[in-house]
Amino acid sequence: MRLSQFHLHTTKETPADAELVSHRLMLRAGMIRKLASGLYTWSPLGLRVLRKVEAVVREEMNRAGAIEMLLPTIQPRELWEESGRWEKFGALLLKIKDAKEQDFCYSPTAEEAVTDFVRQEISSYKQLPLNLYQIQTKFRDEIRPRYGVMRAREFLMKDAYSFHLSDEDLAREYENMKAAYVRIFTRLGLDFRAVQADSGAIGGDASMEFQVLADSGEDALAFSTGSDYAANIEAAVAADPAPRPAAAEALRRVETPTQKTCEEVAELLQIPLQRTVKSFAVMGEDGFVLALVRGDHSVNEIKLAKLPGLADYRMASESEIREHLGSEPGFLGPVAPPRPIRVVADREVAAMADFVVGANAAGFHIAGVNWDRDLPEADVVADIRNVAEGDRARDGGQIRLARGIEVGHVFQLGRKYAQALGATVLDENGKAAVMTMGCYGIGISRIVAAAIEQNHDDAGIVWPVPMAPWTAAVCVINPKRDAAVDQAAGELLERLQAAGVDAVLDDRGLRPGAMFADMELIGIPYRIVVSERGLAAGTYEFRARGAGEAENLDKAALLERLGA
Ligand code: ATP
Ligand code: MG
Repeated sequence: MRLSQFHLHTTKETPADAELVSHRLMLRAGMIRKLASGLYTWSPLGLRVLRKVEAVVREEMNRAGAIEMLLPTIQPRELWEESGRWEKFGALLLKIKDAKEQDFCYSPTAEEAVTDFVRQEISSYKQLPLNLYQIQTKFRDEIRPRYGVMRAREFLMKDAYSFHLSDEDLAREYENMKAAYVRIFTRLGLDFRAVQADSGAIGGDASMEFQVLADSGEDALAFSTGSDYAANIEAAVAADPAPRPAAAEALRRVETPTQKTCEEVAELLQIPLQRTVKSFAVMGEDGFVLALVRGDHSVNEIKLAKLPGLADYRMASESEIREHLGSEPGFLGPVAPPRPIRVVADREVAAMADFVVGANAAGFHIAGVNWDRDLPEADVVADIRNVAEGDRARDGGQIRLARGIEVGHVFQLGRKYAQALGATVLDENGKAAVMTMGCYGIGISRIVAAAIEQNHDDAGIVWPVPMAPWTAAVCVINPKRDAAVDQAAGELLERLQAAGVDAVLDDRGLRPGAMFADMELIGIPYRIVVSERGLAAGTYEFRARGAGEAENLDKAALLERLGA
């Protein structure tokens, strides 16, 4: 490839509205251009990178025994109604009408479509297991599309779906896919972790996310120093609290005229924040519930929603709060409410003594509160908080927090979709059995952005070799003035390509400074300069992206360095 015959369009200006470095660099390198909110064009340069990621994913999926296919992106309403997701998927699902006024959606994921294929194609357990995958555009009408292709509305996903007769066989394939994912992200040169994810009702190890570690990541992750325990904060669990100490203080009402938050109250009373308790008023299936977490903790909404009757909970309104607690927000608490209420206490709160809560009266809190003595034991005691940095982990280590970008997700779905769509096979005894399923996603386009978050410097992108648009750039100084130099560079390009090095020739005739800046910005791992002076000395100037000094190498040494 000669760059004079390619389309490269880099810019120096930093786009004003791009917050993340990956978004800025993808725009400056000319990899993507915005068409509309969350919709991006991949330029010829960007597409080269996207295709490289795709190729690694495809190779490892094939190696793991999965079979590629392609499902339509536009799918009929009737199919999505069979699974109940036409309504349930919510606002993320883009619904469209065709010319005959029939309803369709743009596929945000493809459990329904693949299960429909399998229920028609597969009839015997002897045809199982089967793992089908596609690399296909998805659309999700994200409320806040942002960070360029990191959270786009239209994006490229690899989605795989496996079908099994038994749960054991699903568990085996799940491990197989996890191993394939480790190979994929390792090959792509990413610093990643597999973390336990929230898996809804299935629980346990049935769902894991693959997270690229980056401070800019949207996901909070928890690790233990005591083992390889790692989990998304949505699912992370700390050690059980120490047993509750005996009550030592008397109950007393304290004046807190303007102090509404736990921080303000702790400061006024000169006590540690850990002695205060926050009250959250929510409405569940059976009405009003007061949820309690320690003053320095935060409620984990996913854990809370797993408790009976709270699946679809919402925050209580001010009038609902007044009705049940007779107070304005800011001074709420579980002690002697005017009417009986249901109380859900975090495990840590249930293990506290002598704590401080709101008095259900504006301007007052109650201190020295003790369970059983001053209020009944909570109706429900459960883990409803987010773990925090420094918490004791279950393995005895300490919890550390980090941030990550979710690039992959493996999930044991079970029989949910196969049941809903009636996907059965005849088992060994000739009886119809509902298949069990796994699903395995990878955000191909998101990986491109995530890799840049991890690999960049002041000059631009620093691609890991497997993802680079080209592995090596042969830069020609003055190609138009000096035909011999141009010819030597052309020969070197052919020699490299013949040896399997994905090389490009920069023959655009730019001044060296501008040419080198472009190659650094677009992140080419190796730069080779062919100049009149070098040719006279029989050498090429070689520099690895990110290395300090360039070296002058003869052809043999150069080829060896490039593995050619
Ligand atoms: P997120 O929590 O980031 O919204 P998700 O958990 O909803 O993602 P999955 O349904 O697990 O996503 O989809 C599989 C993969 O697709 C994700 O791991 C992610 O890499 C990618 N992905 C999901 N949504 C987007 C998006 N809006 N833009 C780009 N990639 C996405
Ligand atoms: Mg996910």
